[in-house]
Amino acid sequence: MTDFHNHFTSTSSILCTSSLLPQYYTEEKWEEMKREKPHHLGEAGLDKRYLSLVPLEEQKRRLTDILTFAKNNGLCVTLHSVRSTSHTLEVLSLFQPFERTVIWHGFTGSSETASILYKMGVIISIGPRVPEEKIKNLVQANPLFVLETDYDGNSISEHEQLIKEVYNRASKALGITEERLEEMCLETAAAFKI
Ligand SMILES: [Zn+2]
Repeated sequence: MTDFHNHFTSTSSILCTSSLLPQYYTEEKWEEMKREKPHHLGEAGLDKRYLSLVPLEEQKRRLTDILTFAKNNGLCVTLHSVRSTSHTLEVLSLFQPFERTVIWHGFTGSSETASILYKMGVIISIGPRVPEEKIKNLVQANPLFVLETDYDGNSISEHEQLIKEVYNRASKALGITEERLEEMCLETAAAFKI
């Protein structure tokens, strides 16, 4: 399991990315990433909370650039979307299918959206804000899923405890063992090349 906000992971596979979120994005950072071509780009995406800082059209233009570059260079993207589902889907639709190279982190959308993303080959990452009773529907709609804690602290023990809770909650919601759940998540993560 990987936390996409602070790149903190409890496993040996560490995913390091640099934020391209609207509020942190700079042309310099983007140019540097294009030179370095890291295996993963992001987080990147649309966030309605920052419209006064970066207008929606500019946010969409940046995301379009990032997805174009990722697609042309075989890179993975961690996608961030806050109150921007229809706009995010609109941009994604220009580039799909993704063959599991894009992960929508902190997904809290509907089963319908999850199903559209499945057809696009986009992985969803289900965080603690998704109510337990909704998890099963989401996974049925998009079996390409992983789990996340959204933990932003820096205590390893606290993080590990949270991971246990996340697995426990989701395995109950899905009616499967934690071992099976872990296998499913690892399979998806492997597809995302973590
Ligand atoms: Zn995010």
